[in-house]
Amino acid sequence: MASPASQPLTHDAIQALLRTKTFGRTLHLFQEVSSTNHEAMKLAQQGAPDGTVVVAEAQTAGKGRLGRRWYSPPGANLYCSVILRNQPTDDLAGWLSVLPLLSAVAVAKAVQLAAGLTPSLKWPNDILAGDRKLGGLLCESSLSGPTTTFVIVGVGLNVNSHRADFPEDIRDLATSVAEETGRPCDRAQLIAAILWELEQYAEALLTRRPDLFLGEYARLCTTLGRRVRVSLSGDRLLEGLADSIAPDGSLRVTCDPSSGGGMVEVRAGDVVHLR
Ligand code: ATP
Repeated sequence: MASPASQPLTHDAIQALLRTKTFGRTLHLFQEVSSTNHEAMKLAQQGAPDGTVVVAEAQTAGKGRLGRRWYSPPGANLYCSVILRNQPTDDLAGWLSVLPLLSAVAVAKAVQLAAGLTPSLKWPNDILAGDRKLGGLLCESSLSGPTTTFVIVGVGLNVNSHRADFPEDIRDLATSVAEETGRPCDRAQLIAAILWELEQYAEALLTRRPDLFLGEYARLCTTLGRRVRVSLSGDRLLEGLADSIAPDGSLRVTCDPSSGGGMVEVRAGDVVHLR
């Protein structure tokens, strides 16, 4: 008999495991989409309710940050996007800047719950096992004037893929939950756990100050305390020690003298962990 891990995802299997109030109660499951974020964006623009979830067995144009591609083969992994419509009435900017980091914490906790593996996080929202990448998040928002109409939280996670099957350019950088634990992981349980954790955080983040959550992020973030190289816009590079997370989710780096010294708060940039 096929293990649940290798079975195709079904709407019923996922919904039977949900403990959430709204996340995933409206669920769209596709065999293949360009990207679940793209599909969720279309649904949100057509008025899909808060907590609507898009799951796909494969993505033909899975997206990472800055238009990068996310390798998304069929049948083994998790590609999932959630539409968030509820936003705080005050400090929307603080909420928006912390949400991607908190979503990464939620996914890490869900992996721990469903698979017994504790991932770490690389700033801002890579999900790692050791130095290899297990997953990533892509948060996209739709703005209308000064207000945000909705945010999409997209998750791509390598669950049951074999390392040997990854494309050559990421084979030495990527891993999967099954590779790390040595056993296949039930994807429906993992989706239910992610939606549960995300809903808990999203609810709490509506009523509490965003910066109160960053301690939890910092505990999982292995960028902190490491030497890093950061590529900033305009081809600017800096090297230094990743010191802490600022209240808005930026990475504070104490720069080497060769990078000008002093403390810099990086809001957006590519970070490489140096040895
Ligand atoms: P970095 O991982 O260098 O910090 P990033 O945070 O910008 O980059 P993402 O946008 O999250 O990365 O993901 C895109 C990058 O991840 C790709 O450029 C590729 O190197 C790598 N990648 C693509 N698909 C996968 C996958 N399935 N598993 C692990 N890594 C992947």
